[in-house]
Amino acid sequence: MTCDLAFKMISTTVDPIMPSLPAELLRQFDVPGPRYTSYPTADRFVEAFGAEDHARAVRRRRADGAQAAPLSMYVHIPFCESLCYYCACNKVITRHHEKARHYLDYLACEAALQAAQLGPGTVVSQLHLGGGSPTFLDDAELTGLMAMLRGVFDFATDGEQSIEIDPRTVDTGRLAHLASLGFNRLSFGVQDFDPDVQRAVHRIQPAERVFALMADARALGFESVNVDLIYGLPRQNDASFERTLAQLCMLRPDRIALYAYAHLPERFKPQRRILAEDLPDAPIRVRMLARAIEVLRDAGYVYIGMDHFALPGDPLAVAKRNGRLHRDFQGYSTQPDGDLVALGVSAIGRMGATYSQNAKTLENYYDLLDQRRLPVVRGLALSRDDLLRRDVIMALMCRGHVDFDAMGEAHTVDFRHCFAAEFAALGPLVAQGLVRLTDHDIKVTPRGWFLVRAVAMVFDKYCGAHRERFSRVV
Ligand code: SF4
Repeated sequence: MTCDLAFKMISTTVDPIMPSLPAELLRQFDVPGPRYTSYPTADRFVEAFGAEDHARAVRRRRADGAQAAPLSMYVHIPFCESLCYYCACNKVITRHHEKARHYLDYLACEAALQAAQLGPGTVVSQLHLGGGSPTFLDDAELTGLMAMLRGVFDFATDGEQSIEIDPRTVDTGRLAHLASLGFNRLSFGVQDFDPDVQRAVHRIQPAERVFALMADARALGFESVNVDLIYGLPRQNDASFERTLAQLCMLRPDRIALYAYAHLPERFKPQRRILAEDLPDAPIRVRMLARAIEVLRDAGYVYIGMDHFALPGDPLAVAKRNGRLHRDFQGYSTQPDGDLVALGVSAIGRMGATYSQNAKTLENYYDLLDQRRLPVVRGLALSRDDLLRRDVIMALMCRGHVDFDAMGEAHTVDFRHCFAAEFAALGPLVAQGLVRLTDHDIKVTPRGWFLVRAVAMVFDKYCGAHRERFSRVV
């Protein structure tokens, strides 16, 4: 789940991992904040940045001889057959599958334009299909999509290929087909196992189906399986969520993303179908999160950061232990920070010191490609200050540590001088035991990991004035 501005992370006073997080502290840090899948965040993108700026960034990559450097690719499939009422994603609800075939033709056009710019010898080391629902595509369409991508790009033989799975749209045969196409990582959108909750959010998928798919995924040898879960959904309560957690532990995915639902019906129209009186109140949500952390810890999961958990042997947990965790538009990742080519409507890419975003409507996306133009409609060229702050924020979010000398050297700045105001602003977080600040570094404490966004926000030059558009930190 990548489109989760409407989801928020909340924390609690009762979990043993953070035994003394008083309610007053939660109130103090209960402010809207970015999830930092990029810095600056996408709300800072400007329309003055367009396809030509993106092309310039690609030319710079080629001039630097970076073709062999790892390149990630994100492909957005916007279609879904039915609407989940909690949805805050950029999607198109339709049962007309011919729309997908039409869309794939345009994706091919965009891929060819991108490949021509990137030049020969470019190797894609990581591919992610997201949406919407990538499994809206049938097997033949997925085969065609992968053949098209492999026809215009070289893919690393040992690369990661992941796909978001709507369990309602796949079966054993379809999972086998995905394996045959080279996918080695799956992410199941489960959200909640409880039938009553599923009815309330208009997403019915029996638990038995998810269990059967997980067994198939294991038998087929997928390297890592993630499950998305949401707490704070309508009709959830302590008892129902306890059952869902027990089922989750029995399912035992390699990774778990546990998002909090934030009800913003004025912003996300589908949410208007959710009855406010069906929503669990704040104390219940806090209890659900507390219980989830406790249960997952007891089941052997490692807390990665923000809303992610992983089994100790999963590459994400290994990367966290080794200080090699990264963060990209899909959340935490093991892939080194690098360039990302994004294909499809509304998709966001990263190239050198730039971000670019495609047209957000199909009409606009198609129109630009009809003109043989890349559909980039907005983006950002990062300043030196942005690049420095991005490194600081990602170091905090991924490693919980910033070494002043190393960071200053990497950016040729006097780090202590540059961030004197931020050090002062860290005061309340230091006082609350969320971070440790010395003459030479900042360290996020175990308690601080649960509020790491609040720590990162201190170094965000922009979020003060635009905070309200983000989900809350706690
Ligand atoms: S599957 Fe549901 S939550 Fe996901 S994009 Fe489609 S409507 Fe939204």
